[in-house]
Amino acid sequence: MRIARIEARPLSIPLREPFVISSGRVDTTRGALVSARIVDTGTGELHRGLGEAAALPAVTGVDQGDLLRAIGRANGALAGQDVEGHSDLRALLDGVFDDPVSRAGVEAALLDAWARQERLPVHALLGSERNGGTPFQVTTDVTLPIADPAHVGELASGWQQAGFSSLKVKVGRDLDDDARTLEHIARRCPTVEVRLDANGALAARDAMTLISIVRSLHLRLGCFEQPCAADDLEGMAHVTLLAGAPVVADESVQTIDDLFAVVHKKAATAVNLKIMKHGGPVEAARIGRAARRLGLKIMVGAMVETRLGLAASLHLARSLGGVDLVDLDTSLLLRWDPFAGGYQQRGAELTLLEGNGVGVHEAAMA
Ligand SMILES: [Mg+2]
Repeated sequence: MRIARIEARPLSIPLREPFVISSGRVDTTRGALVSARIVDTGTGELHRGLGEAAALPAVTGVDQGDLLRAIGRANGALAGQDVEGHSDLRALLDGVFDDPVSRAGVEAALLDAWARQERLPVHALLGSERNGGTPFQVTTDVTLPIADPAHVGELASGWQQAGFSSLKVKVGRDLDDDARTLEHIARRCPTVEVRLDANGALAARDAMTLISIVRSLHLRLGCFEQPCAADDLEGMAHVTLLAGAPVVADESVQTIDDLFAVVHKKAATAVNLKIMKHGGPVEAARIGRAARRLGLKIMVGAMVETRLGLAASLHLARSLGGVDLVDLDTSLLLRWDPFAGGYQQRGAELTLLEGNGVGVHEAAMA
């Protein structure tokens, strides 16, 4: 393929309610919609692909304006370039981008266009194996932000009634509030599985206190994501040893070397793959395969993303032959989603729609 043009425009979708985590707060998505046009150098046909670059400043360190500037500049270096395969694409994008989020959005858009040219789904370009045509289906959790404990209990009960049996509970800002939140959840949804996520805010002993509270409330603990700071691998290892549930490294694993360090220190038993964090679907898939070889469980998650980004993440999960934990819910937290296609959602069940590319298009505005 030859890259003809890369463009980006703001993707700013308001959330139903503020998304508050221990490290920050979001009211509106701060992303960029990337559109990539390529030419099939064999036939001369034009193909267009879409990708989402999603900034979450508290986590990604970059904001929407940074993405738009970086992608705008990148067009100058990318337009007119011929790409023969994965190693060409990697070298080209590595030479152009400093931040993983802009790179991820552009790589996702190029993979979408390239897959359309090849009349393949994106997961095939990521190395998926054929599965005999069985629909690829996963069950996602849904995320509860940090908020007034009684309100979080109400949200939990609403999601449970909508078919979600796994709730990701954001914790780590105030231990007393976290305890009250868990009490409200236990009272309203005693059978639910909770997945704690502290986004790196806790000391190991405080993380263990929260685990004891979950146990004393007779809630099922599905996993504990990033209890301690990204570089506190000792604390993470302490929790891993004693948690009795998977400990998931998220902020601790950006690169494949980070993964090796986490495994070496026994600092987690699972890793959360995110296309935005690893600089694109290709590297996310590579880290996922390495994690599996090393015996880790795999979660696939996202920043606060629309259906476009979540569909790309489902292709990532499909390319790995399925994953252990799925956290692809953020489209449900938006007031509206400007995209359609990619997958079908019924309650917590997501079914990938097989087709060319990532399969997502811009929805007609009402
Ligand atoms: Mg996380």
